Amino acid sequence: MDRSELLRRGKKRVGLFGGTFDPIHLGHLRCAQEVGEAFSLSQVIFILAATPPHKLDRPIISTEHRWEMVRLAIADNPFFTLSDVEIRREGRSYSIETISYYHHNLGEGERLFFIVGADAFCEIETWRDYPQLFTLCDFIVISRPNFDPLRTRVIKSEGFQKDERDQFLHPSGHSLYLHQVTPIGISSTEIRRAIREGKSIKYLVPKEVEEYIKKQGLYQG
Ligand code: ATP
Ligand code: MG
Repeated sequence: MDRSELLRRGKKRVGLFGGTFDPIHLGHLRCAQEVGEAFSLSQVIFILAATPPHKLDRPIISTEHRWEMVRLAIADNPFFTLSDVEIRREGRSYSIETISYYHHNLGEGERLFFIVGADAFCEIETWRDYPQLFTLCDFIVISRPNFDPLRTRVIKSEGFQKDERDQFLHPSGHSLYLHQVTPIGISSTEIRRAIREGKSIKYLVPKEVEEYIKKQGLYQG
């Protein structure tokens, strides 16, 4: 069944893609596109982390700027939307609260997929209530150059059983998929560094984002 067919039937398969997006780049966008197609998702919701608990050690630019850049970056894609759930919530942004929110608001026959990069997945044991995450939705762990998602113990320690190739079944009935995307070695860290060093970020971010960063003078300091 292709995506338009799924949409017509009203069966929603929703992807949640969280990030700091400081700034959003082509790696994020291309991964979301590929996952959306591979898993026949009816939409991918970009969830902007307002106060990421694991990034308190460095300054993050304002939520408003990051929001605007994601908005500009996804404007031409009808399958992509932007959520402010973590912004409306006070305090730190915990995935367990976000996933629970969407889980409770799921309609009949709808299915949730949490999309996470291999690097972030490797740190999942530091996330609040992480074992519970696997009971609420399916997980799609996307490949990222230089990170091996099987490095963590969680797949074993949380009782996942290998199902098909690159698919693991959780005791709750949800699945965890290891999904290969086109390797794109772009990171927001590298983009911020390039700007600080006066280098170009052309072809690393969408044109609209590049222009916004320039106009607002972001990441200079
Ligand atoms: P930073 O360098 O500041 O950590 P980042 O490029 O990792 O930024 P995040 O906002 O931290 O971007 O990432 C959001 C999500 O996207 C995470 O799950 C991350 O693993 C994933 N991701 C980011 N860039 C890529 C990429 N190039 N390939 C695959 N996954 C990516
Ligand atoms: Mg990151």
